[in-house]
Amino acid sequence: MSFTPFHLHPQIAAGVEALGYSTPTPIQIRAIPPVLQGQDVMGVAQTGTGKTAAFVLPILERLIKRPRGRIRALVIAPTRELADQINTAFADLGRQTHLRSAAIYGGVGMDPQVRKLRAGVEIVVACPGRLLDHLQQGTIRLADLEVLVLDEADRMFDMGFLPDIRKILRHVPARRQTLLFAATMPDDIRLLARDVLQAPVTVEVNPSSPACTVAHALYPVDPHLKTALLFELLRHTDTESVLVFTRTKHRARRVGQQLERAGFRASSLQGNLSQNQRQAALDGFRNGTVQVLVATDIASRGIDVSRISHVINYDMPDSADAYTHRIGRTGRAEKSGDAFTFMTREDGAMVRSIERVLGKKVECRRVPGFDYKKPAPARDAEFARLPRGPHPRGRRG
Ligand code: AMP
Repeated sequence: MSFTPFHLHPQIAAGVEALGYSTPTPIQIRAIPPVLQGQDVMGVAQTGTGKTAAFVLPILERLIKRPRGRIRALVIAPTRELADQINTAFADLGRQTHLRSAAIYGGVGMDPQVRKLRAGVEIVVACPGRLLDHLQQGTIRLADLEVLVLDEADRMFDMGFLPDIRKILRHVPARRQTLLFAATMPDDIRLLARDVLQAPVTVEVNPSSPACTVAHALYPVDPHLKTALLFELLRHTDTESVLVFTRTKHRARRVGQQLERAGFRASSLQGNLSQNQRQAALDGFRNGTVQVLVATDIASRGIDVSRISHVINYDMPDSADAYTHRIGRTGRAEKSGDAFTFMTREDGAMVRSIERVLGKKVECRRVPGFDYKKPAPARDAEFARLPRGPHPRGRRG
């Protein structure tokens, strides 16, 4: 199937072509028609399925008809990175439409955002906190809003944004089209959906199961050998961009430094970075100067690098949902990817719950020639220093 059946405006079809999309993804096939018809949609789809274009294209189609100069579409997203990506998708797919969009988030000055809003935009992509600031200061007006999108609603809930979202909802017209996207549908999101959506069409792709193009493998290993195993895997595997997940910020930084010292083009992304450092790491990862990025779950949210060939779980995620989110970063739209997970003796229960979500057993692999017997140093600084985190079992690595 091609994009022709959607009868997109030639200026929008040109954007699709410029990005090289030839076949719509399943979420696009199912979501674009009802969104084009003006219906409310609840989309259950994770990052990597092409969900952004699934709402960006029909929104552009609606906005291409006048009027201009007032905010007619608002997308709310949990992180700056995701907001930037969505904003870029509007800019790229809508290049020829001359519709204008602004990204609104915290951590950067208000003034440039105010100027941009004053100059006139039809689309705003915002994170909840900063959007509320603008609403409270009267620097943004949402009275003409026609379409509201809540993207990664489950993440926004996890991050505690629900009260902010409810406040924002008081500023938007009751008569509007609303789209809600989430990778998972916990009860709180269903409740929110019931409040904000009217007679929605539910569109679901792979409910809480990761992109089927991803191959999963477990690597049993003792905790003190994880870094050595990571080096070994990276040296002997043909990879493009690799995203490595650790459980703590400290560990992300540490593993990033160890990789750099070993000569890998590596960097880390964790909560302690300044906005500039964070952006530099993300830009490097996106343009390929950084090949291996080590991150925590929170720091990694919204990363979209279409070349991610491997996700490596240096530490087991805390839930099967977190696993799905992590590996949703690889195997994106029509590409295949690998998800490697290091597994220590304590991780058996989590592996079983991940296997339940995947609906299959995950293959266990050993790296030939790797010394699995190497003893731990007398006092392993790295593991001894792990904080007594909020982990359910108080595990200390
Ligand atoms: P998303 O799930 O929206 O984050 O999209 C994941 C990636 O797939 C992004 O890099 C998009 O540019 C890409 N993508 C979206 N739709 C298509 C498509 N129909 N064909 C090829 N790539 C796509």
